[in-house]
Amino acid sequence: VELPADPDETNEIRQVKNTLFSFVNPTKPSNPTLVHASEEVAEMVGITKDEIQSEAFLNAFSGKEILPETRPYAMCYAGHQFGNWAGQLGDGRAINLTEVEHNNAFFTLQLKGAGKTPYSRTADGLAVLRSSIREYLCAEAMFNLGVPTTRSLSLILSGDQVLRDVLYNGNPAYEKGAIVCRVAPSFIRFGSFEMLTARNELKNLKEFVEYTIKHYFPEIKGEPKEQYLQFFKTVADTTRKMIIDWQRVGFVHGVMNTDNMSIHGLTIDYGPYGWLENYDPNWTPNTTDSQNRRYRFGNQPQVAQWNLYQLANALYPLINEAEPLENILQSFISDFESDYKLMYLSKLGLFTSTETDSKLIEGLETVLQLSETDMTLFFRNLSKITKTDSVENAIEKIQVSFYLPEEIKGDILDSWKKWFTVYLQRLNAQEVTDESRAEKMNQVNPKYVLRNYMAQLAIDAADKEDYSLINELYLLLQKPYDEQPEFEKWFAKRPDWARSKVGCSM
Ligand code: AMP
Ligand code: MG
Ligand code: MG
Repeated sequence: VELPADPDETNEIRQVKNTLFSFVNPTKPSNPTLVHASEEVAEMVGITKDEIQSEAFLNAFSGKEILPETRPYAMCYAGHQFGNWAGQLGDGRAINLTEVEHNNAFFTLQLKGAGKTPYSRTADGLAVLRSSIREYLCAEAMFNLGVPTTRSLSLILSGDQVLRDVLYNGNPAYEKGAIVCRVAPSFIRFGSFEMLTARNELKNLKEFVEYTIKHYFPEIKGEPKEQYLQFFKTVADTTRKMIIDWQRVGFVHGVMNTDNMSIHGLTIDYGPYGWLENYDPNWTPNTTDSQNRRYRFGNQPQVAQWNLYQLANALYPLINEAEPLENILQSFISDFESDYKLMYLSKLGLFTSTETDSKLIEGLETVLQLSETDMTLFFRNLSKITKTDSVENAIEKIQVSFYLPEEIKGDILDSWKKWFTVYLQRLNAQEVTDESRAEKMNQVNPKYVLRNYMAQLAIDAADKEDYSLINELYLLLQKPYDEQPEFEKWFAKRPDWARSKVGCSM
């Protein structure tokens, strides 16, 4: 790559051919203030608690100053959005500051919302406090839930106003600008490879795949073609595990475009995401997708496979053989199905598999919907059921999770009775004690998740410069599987006022 004399000259918006990134400096914020930082993530990348409070930290992670001997850059990638080829996209509001090595691990530090890049297209390169709080908190919540994800280092107000909407009366609606520093081994996406293949830059493709394997997948060895296939298989495996975890905790990403798919199988780009409250496989938090519901909860596994199919197409010119790629894609779904069953059985506290597992799981998925059941509350309360409970007792223990009147009747009651009859039989057929089953269930069924309304309350308070709720939720969600009596109020159904609230994207 030929280095431009002045990196500042590079951030005009354009199509950037024959390259994977452009040097670009963050826009200097006018008055940065630290809202929150994760001591855990700081330590992970080699920053001490005291350093977090320093001017240098604030300047570096707001984009005010460039770290010595580094050269920030934005990455060029393409992608399929909502199933359609979208061409070049790239980091329109993300800038990689640098890569650091600490305790034998490598981390890329990336600012989101630090101003325009060559890939900003018609947008401003900025992020508002609202969406930044949502990304910052959710990534850390996901990590502590055991879901692979990018991490959040810091959340900083820029001190600048960002225009996001024009009100009906024609007045501009300004919001507070913010910058999140997020951390991952790399921010390489499926779309990074798709772009090179679409442009027929096959030499770059080969070089980039080899670079990626060498730096981020050093365990992959062997003949070149074998390595490329191994790489694809690894991405398919980690992606599958990530989606299993999404389904386990009720997370809906909302924008599973191929440019939002990390090659490390990490959850990335928290936009209009949401959490299932009443268990509904058709639910999507993305209002722009409310027609097709492509990215609905129940469709995430299929979309992941579709996205992997696009990655396979991108890698094909290096492999020139469809069959091994197709085999990996096919085993994605069959492996998914068996992993999904095991995951679901673990949520139910069943540790032996039988032929009727699928029926039991599908039966539950149906009956959960009949009574509009809160997913998190249901599974957490399910661990309180004992082998000697009657069907009626069992229903009593979980009915607080119903959004429909808690006193269910008629067909719905009958369906629950039928399901619990079989479930109690299964519990009694296994040797495990009630106590030890409950303990295991509570390690896979979180007590606390970042419900949409919780993030919203933190946002509303932060807008009035009260950051205490951000801190409270951050602390709460560090231990989502633990009983935390001081936070018991968050172990509750979504309040009525929050019913139709959805996530937000910008
Ligand atoms: P997303 O759906 O958020 O993953 O974004 C899709 C594309 O739009 C990516 O290339 C982003 O970098 C870009 N983008 C989103 N928001 C902005 C913004 N405010 N300014 C510039 N680019 C943006
Ligand atoms: Mg994105
Ligand atoms: Mg986004």
